Amino acid sequence: MSARVLAGPPAAEALLAQTAARAAKLAKPPHLTILRLGEDPASVSYVAGKDKKAKETGLSSSVEVMPDTTTQEALLSRIAELNADANVNGILVQLPLPSHIDEEKVLSALDPDKDVDGFHPVNVGRLWAGHPHLAPCTPVGVMSLLSHYGYSVAGKRAVIVGRSRIVGRPLAGLLLNASATVTVAHSRTPNLGAVTREADFLFVAVGKAHLITPDMVGAGAVVIDVGINRLEREGKKARLLGDVHPDVAEVARALTPVPGGVGPMTIAQLMANTVSAAEGQAQLRE
Ligand code: NAD
Repeated sequence: MSARVLAGPPAAEALLAQTAARAAKLAKPPHLTILRLGEDPASVSYVAGKDKKAKETGLSSSVEVMPDTTTQEALLSRIAELNADANVNGILVQLPLPSHIDEEKVLSALDPDKDVDGFHPVNVGRLWAGHPHLAPCTPVGVMSLLSHYGYSVAGKRAVIVGRSRIVGRPLAGLLLNASATVTVAHSRTPNLGAVTREADFLFVAVGKAHLITPDMVGAGAVVIDVGINRLEREGKKARLLGDVHPDVAEVARALTPVPGGVGPMTIAQLMANTVSAAEGQAQLRE
């Protein structure tokens, strides 16, 4: 048996089409402002990708680049201006920030209703109270990938490996809201395989190539691999590997590939969050 391949691009395209249709119903295109500090090559490339996708989806977007020597005070004061600017619907501060800046302070300074990354404590609270508004893009994208392929987690056992703010924790909240029975495993979980084998739906977000091997997966599980690990190769392009060993396809019912699985959902969900932010603000004004 070989697992069904849950490819990200068709699910991401469907989400983007829905998002573009929602954006077109608003009085004007929602605007996303992306703040980037410094010239970290990965951040430069991620931000350019987000800006391009926003424009392709019929949103308006701008990128503001500040030097990596920017003080925390200057960054907070720019955020305050963007919070107050009625023409800005979504604000994204590209992480990581330089080490002299307190990331928590910056994320908490965003207007929660413009916080398209969903990291503000108010948005974390809304998610865990069972009524999310803006929730982190990767886990919401994962839920939308599952629903695109017709899977429901209600009444099923979900196991997440990884407890980060970006993926594992918010995914636990979303799965609970969708009536799954949720277990979160992490670096201190003993006998990881015994826990992961229990899963009907297994989600892996660790950052360790091929951590999950076929013996750790129950027959017929749906496996979502969030991990992206770069394998540098001399004289060749780096290869991207997931956290799940490809041989898991022999036991699982369905599996997301890496690359081309969860990755495209994250950026598509960012566009959806920007539209949700604009819709929420329009409702508040009414
Ligand atoms: P992180 O480093 O913040 O968290 C990793 C988590 O894995 C931690 O909670 C830790 O407890 C757990 N962990 C570490 N070693 C473990 C082990 N041996 N067994 C069990 N758990 C272990 O990472 P993150 O930001 O959540 O990212 C995880 C992976 O997902 C990375 O590869 C990252 O590149 C990828 N990622 C992909 C996307 C996407 O869009 N596809 C988005 C975000 C992150």
